[in-house]
Amino acid sequence: MAISFSLEGKSALVTGANTGIGQAIAVALAQAGADVAVAGRSEPTETLDLIAQTGRKAVNIKADFSSIEPVQRVIEEAVAGLGKLDVLVNNAGIIRRDDLLQFSEEDWDAVMDTNLKTLFFLSQAAAKGMVEQGCGKIVNIASLLTFQGGIRVPSYAAAKSGVSGVTKAMANELAPRGVQVNAIAPGYISTNNTAALQGDETRNRQILERIPTGRWGNPDDIAGAAVFLASPASNYVTGHVLAVDGGWLAR
Ligand code: NAP
Repeated sequence: MAISFSLEGKSALVTGANTGIGQAIAVALAQAGADVAVAGRSEPTETLDLIAQTGRKAVNIKADFSSIEPVQRVIEEAVAGLGKLDVLVNNAGIIRRDDLLQFSEEDWDAVMDTNLKTLFFLSQAAAKGMVEQGCGKIVNIASLLTFQGGIRVPSYAAAKSGVSGVTKAMANELAPRGVQVNAIAPGYISTNNTAALQGDETRNRQILERIPTGRWGNPDDIAGAAVFLASPASNYVTGHVLAVDGGWLAR
């Protein structure tokens, strides 16, 4: 059997795809052959255009993932728009920064709810259909803070560490049903999410000094890993967190 990285005939849903890493992943999945639904709270006009330029179908679903209220509807709209759902990429996420000793409950709950709770329940809702069809791929966007504690971002570190646990827990139960669940841990990628860090001269220098590749990543640097984990080429890969970090964790 030839190894296939093609997503021809597949349908994918990407959350938070109006910008950054989510946009790059949504467009790359379409370039690999998938029809793609994007779900989020901001208008993904540019992403929809870029998907359409690949000749694949693009579906827009409005949803605020700060609670699990929309998850069932989002999966239903994705299936209605695309005919089925083969791939879910849980990308939507936020970060809140503050000193540990004054970190608020609001900043704790907001990050845990969006980055972990919604990720689990959206995956659960998608997995039901994937189990029924006997195959599927779930790709969660984790972080270097899945492995490390970071500075001034305790709820983000907790949520992204939790993403690893949920990825493995889901992988174990879903592997016998033909569904693979993996995560990508992006390194330091230039997006809205990291604009504050890049703007801080000292932190920016410290970060660059540790990256063996010597530069910040671009959203496109993450897209290849996402296509791999969405494709038949990764059918024997499950429960894995793949770092795409320019070598950061190797230091
Ligand atoms: P970004 O440009 O800020 O993108 C985040 C995406 O999530 C946006 O589309 C955002 O929508 C969406 N989102 C956030 N809260 C939402 C909500 N309540 N409902 C619906 N959509 C919501 O940042 P990014 O760097 O591309 O982040 C994408 C993912 O990668 C996140 O999970 C992040 O934690 C992770 N990550 C990023 C880096 C990095 O270095 N950039 C490193 C490791 C992990 P809006 O535009 O409406 O806010």
